[in-house]
Amino acid sequence: MKTSLLDAITQRPLLGDGAMGTQLMFAGLEQGNSGEAWNLTHPDRVLAIQRRYVEAGSECLLTNTFGGSRIMLNRHGIAQDVTPINAAAVAIAREAFGGREGYVIGDIGPFGGLMEPYGEFTEAQVLAAFREQAKALVDAGADAIIVETQTSLEELRLGLLAAREAGAACVIGSMAYDVTLDGSTFRTMMGIDPERAAAFMQEQGADIVALNCGTGMDMERARQAVIRYHGVTDLPIMAQPNAGQPKLVDMKVVYDESPAQMVAGVVPLLQAGAAIVGGCCGSTPDHIRAFREAMDRFQAKGHS
Ligand SMILES: [Zn+2]
Repeated sequence: MKTSLLDAITQRPLLGDGAMGTQLMFAGLEQGNSGEAWNLTHPDRVLAIQRRYVEAGSECLLTNTFGGSRIMLNRHGIAQDVTPINAAAVAIAREAFGGREGYVIGDIGPFGGLMEPYGEFTEAQVLAAFREQAKALVDAGADAIIVETQTSLEELRLGLLAAREAGAACVIGSMAYDVTLDGSTFRTMMGIDPERAAAFMQEQGADIVALNCGTGMDMERARQAVIRYHGVTDLPIMAQPNAGQPKLVDMKVVYDESPAQMVAGVVPLLQAGAAIVGGCCGSTPDHIRAFREAMDRFQAKGHS
């Protein structure tokens, strides 16, 4: 039987994957269209992206379901396909591993709105949407659920609750931080600092605390976040920083950190205690391949 994700990371750090959204754009997805719909309409293209990550050395793949909740899919008129879209995503990621052992992490992104009293959605609607998505991912065989790019504790709580209720074998909470204007620290858009987020995620039953995406959160800032998480929790930590900053070049969004630049931060992240390292927006199979080499060298030196 396959070692569980939580057991595996007690043995050695694991390599995650890189961005999906930017890769879908390269594969022809137009801005404003649903990348998640491609799990049903263009599964071959999603599979090709995830295969490139596996070939680069990824041991964990996030499903192509960031916007796969009913509330998000409803904006594209495909709310009726929540379950098939999420189930197909798990099957595609599993297929991408081929015969290799790997972990399929069911991805739940933000529902993309505001809850009452600031917005139009009730807590019950958001919880129902997360429950439906989490159940679809777990029923399809996801090894874990990640509730990612979270900025508010209210929404995070609902996502983690839904993942636990769905029976996920491993529940990951992942926050998106922004570096403050003066550059002195970072917190989420809703003002949550890493210590508060990590303590809250632990209280809410997360098995792994994580960070991803955000503004100005380079590899060094991610390392600082890992250290700050460690100050308040003994839970394993996952980090998926962006490949630098987005820039508009020829009307296309590109990220400005090359694999060589980003990989310099991998060993420091591992030394700080990150158990799973991957990349968020703008990171590519080339970034992940560089990460793989750095992690292999690090482990060959006897670090675990
Ligand atoms: Zn991102």
